[in-house]
Amino acid sequence: MTSPALDQISLTELKGIGPALEKKFHQLSVYNVQDLLFHLPFRYEDRTKVHPIGKVSVGDHVQLQGEIVSCNIQFGRRRSLHCVVQDESGFISLRFFHFSAVQKQSLAVGNLIRCYGEARRGRTGMEIYHPEYKVLKDFDSIPIEDSLTPIYPATEGLQQARLRNVISQALVLMEKSPDVQDHLPPELVKKLGLEGLTEAIRLLHKPPIDAPLSWVNAGINPGQKRLAFEELLAHRLCMRRLRNDSNQQKAPQLQADDSLLSQYLKALPFTLTNAQQLAYQEIAKDLNGVCPMLRLLQGDVGSGKTVVAGLTALHAIGSGYQVALMAPTEILAEQHLFNFQQWFEPLGINVGWLSGKTKGAIRSQQLQDLVAGKCQLLIGTHALFQEDVEYQQLGLIIIDEQHRFGVHQRLALRDKASAGSINPHQLVMTATPIPRTLAMSAYADLDSSIIDELPPGRTPVNTAIISSDRRSDVIDRIESACREGNQAYWVCTLIDESEALQCEAAEVTAEKLSTQLPHIEVGLIHGRMKPKQKVEVMAGFKVGQIQLLVATTVIEVGVDVPNASLMVIENPERLGLAQLHQLRGRIGRGNIQSHCILLYQTPLSDMAKQRLTVMRDSTDGFYIAEKDLELRGPGQVLGTQQTGMMTFRVADIARDAPLLETVKEASEIILQNHDDIVEPLIRRWLGEREHYANV
Ligand code: ADP
Ligand code: MG
Repeated sequence: MTSPALDQISLTELKGIGPALEKKFHQLSVYNVQDLLFHLPFRYEDRTKVHPIGKVSVGDHVQLQGEIVSCNIQFGRRRSLHCVVQDESGFISLRFFHFSAVQKQSLAVGNLIRCYGEARRGRTGMEIYHPEYKVLKDFDSIPIEDSLTPIYPATEGLQQARLRNVISQALVLMEKSPDVQDHLPPELVKKLGLEGLTEAIRLLHKPPIDAPLSWVNAGINPGQKRLAFEELLAHRLCMRRLRNDSNQQKAPQLQADDSLLSQYLKALPFTLTNAQQLAYQEIAKDLNGVCPMLRLLQGDVGSGKTVVAGLTALHAIGSGYQVALMAPTEILAEQHLFNFQQWFEPLGINVGWLSGKTKGAIRSQQLQDLVAGKCQLLIGTHALFQEDVEYQQLGLIIIDEQHRFGVHQRLALRDKASAGSINPHQLVMTATPIPRTLAMSAYADLDSSIIDELPPGRTPVNTAIISSDRRSDVIDRIESACREGNQAYWVCTLIDESEALQCEAAEVTAEKLSTQLPHIEVGLIHGRMKPKQKVEVMAGFKVGQIQLLVATTVIEVGVDVPNASLMVIENPERLGLAQLHQLRGRIGRGNIQSHCILLYQTPLSDMAKQRLTVMRDSTDGFYIAEKDLELRGPGQVLGTQQTGMMTFRVADIARDAPLLETVKEASEIILQNHDDIVEPLIRRWLGEREHYANV
């Protein structure tokens, strides 16, 4: 009897999966056994050794075993279960912020356990938060793993142990069944020296015994290479197909109103750079055409993308169409509102605002103005494309995206914004330069314009890396800079993502600095202040009344005060290079020499040191972006890579960059000669995501 194909076997045929659990798998887009095999680990852990507890240092990911010598509930800022484990070499604490009575019982004093987790410095010395653990009868009752442990993307109520168990069962079925269906043409697989698909899957789920972590993470695992290739190929095919679709679609042909454009340009206090002019020419050509523009506008921070977006918007408005300008955060959107109001209102153009916080009468008035065509430019956040938002005649969407949008969102947006068979044009601006490799895969559906020139009169910023031990020197330096009539920023960062805590930290810092600098006017700005307050503070800083501005990373965007020539960034090691570059772009806007001080916390890891050195040595956003990618590089993680725009299951854009050129070639061959495999490949790797992306 032949076994059924793997995609015909339902999950409930596996041991331990009932209808309830099956639903959980659906949440992961896993519907059958074949899907399960493609649910790939995004990293691995080494549980092939047991470490002596006494030798653990902060940051280690380790497996430990020992006897529980105490276990009790502690009350502090947060209630937690605290449990001390001891072996011959020392002891360590385990801490659980979520725990059940059963769990507490299983961790009774005297029990033996084996656990795995990351060591950190906690309230009581070395601690591990929420380790994975097993209670043992004796230390040999459960054998130690002989190969690396895969860690899978999971969802609430679906634990790693369960996933591993179920996937092991699927692998057994795979050995008995016809192979996993390989869509790639055999000659291509052979030509590229790729691993067979079934073997590749086996290698990823079950790395060979004794394969070290470095082997799986460095991308030299042939299984990984095969699947990364296929995944990148599927993404590229998807984007190429979208692009082809788009070329079949109709868009309004937009004729610019030249007198409107020249009024706008005349009112600007500067002339456009050549690069800005070129970018606009490319855009204008698209807007005059019959199919929808899909264009990426790239340029380093401060290169003047907003002005070009202004021209683009005006081009569409001048021909009688509406424009939507969407930004990823409220603060960024507000900054655009401020600029565009200043530019457009003197021209008699109605600029509207819509964010998630716009409610009640103001909101309904705005929606009314929009559908009546009275509002010509609408600025805001994702709220611009909520269900009940209706445009009279939308001709252009400008997205300022800061690496947060993926192709699926762009697609969904296009669908929402289209009116019948007419689609609006789209301009995507990125606030951060995108490395070439990334652009090649993430934006394969877009044409690109690059502003590769900064406005004249900028002086490159000088950057220094200074330890927080020398904080008082830095404060002296602020004092003398301000005495000389310059202004400064002090940027506070926090590991904690919580906005509330960030703002709190900034408040505390601002207070301290005002005491330490009694002769300096210190201001404070953060995301939790009322819009009116923010505007006041910014205005005070702009006119020089505030000399030192303490801020959270909100000033990353939009702030423009040429007289500010000094910036201190606290704990820069916590930020991505792209974000640091954005921040630093706030100074060096005038003609005085500017200085940026990266005030780090000791000890600094090697990686952090390297990253900060990149910042010190370069002010070129494209170079910094390439380096960032390279350094984050041969992934601490394999798989679900947050490149910011795309999430991959296996591929890692930095690590797999050498594959991209081949992926590009292969995708053209496939589109020409193997059109039938495009769909199944996309479905396998992008699945439902393609259709149900949320904007
Ligand atoms: P980006 O969004 O690319 O980071 P902006 O559009 O915010 O840059 O421009 C940065 C600053 O440079 C703004 O103050 C803007 O007014 C100014 N600017 C833009 N274009 C020019 C130019 N051609 N000459 C001088 N200043 C310019
Ligand atoms: Mg900008």
